[in-house]
Amino acid sequence: TTLVTGATGQLGRLVIDRLIARGAEPQSIVAGARDTAKASDLAARGVRVVPLDYDDAATVTAAVDGADAVLLISGSAVGRRAAQHQVVIDAAVAAGVEKLVYTSAPKATTSDLVLAPEHKATEEAIAASGLPAVILRNNWYTENYAAEVARAADTGAISASVGEGRVASASRADLADGAAVVLLEDGHVGQVYELGGDVAWNYHDLAAAAAEITGRPVTYVALSPEEHAAALRAAGLDEGTIGFVTALDAGIRGGALADTDGTLSRLIGRPTTPLVEGLRAAL
Ligand code: NDP
Repeated sequence: TTLVTGATGQLGRLVIDRLIARGAEPQSIVAGARDTAKASDLAARGVRVVPLDYDDAATVTAAVDGADAVLLISGSAVGRRAAQHQVVIDAAVAAGVEKLVYTSAPKATTSDLVLAPEHKATEEAIAASGLPAVILRNNWYTENYAAEVARAADTGAISASVGEGRVASASRADLADGAAVVLLEDGHVGQVYELGGDVAWNYHDLAAAAAEITGRPVTYVALSPEEHAAALRAAGLDEGTIGFVTALDAGIRGGALADTDGTLSRLIGRPTTPLVEGLRAAL
């Protein structure tokens, strides 16, 4: 069987869709859910739903027991994730899992992206565990930019401090399909895949996509980090959030998300979803 953690999340649900679409029997899929009540739709499709909370090791042990493959979808509690993921890794070792697949971040072990250290720690823990594993270093979801495009419909502008930095985003559905392929196929163990869209776009491209979607002119306003922080402050954001947003933009400016080598489209057997199409679907 294949266990998917975080199965009630946006990516997890799409992975389960793609596993079934690619021929997996629903009964062979185990959906690990922190809140099983949120997974009733999955149960209705014939998927086995089990409790799985990274903060409750007993649920993790029970959920992993008997799984041949485990997709560890990185958690959302930033700052606590390395410890949470370790619980799953330990359970996978104890259960003799044959394939552990983990959703990481671009160039996790060398990136200076603010979100990278927890992914680096998890990749290192997986390597140290000796588990047969596949690392999926997922680039940004195209859907992350839907709110920005919706705002641009009112303002005609997209402001950021990313300079000319590029983002090889892919839709969640594309990345979910890649995960499904890696879970179902043999031959991926030991690989570290950098997964993103076929096109690395910059924020002029994003503004052009927003203009196409909203039907009004949209320009990219390139801010310095200081100007960006001041604008976010004026908009009422707290200092922690301002620091996080400007650090993410600094990462993008430095090229942390810019690389794409077509691995995802090769895995899924089709081109990735273009930016405009991915944004439209998310809006
Ligand atoms: P979601 O926030 O939609 O889903 C996160 C999932 O993790 C949910 O199912 C949530 O459970 C589950 N989860 C959170 N805490 C725990 C816990 N303690 N125990 C068990 N499960 C837990 O995110 P996505 O599906 O969109 O993305 C998946 C992951 O990818 C994120 O969690 C994050 O690590 C990362 N990410 C990547 C981004 C990118 O652009 N590449 C952007 C944002 C996040 P519940 O349903 O109960 O809330």
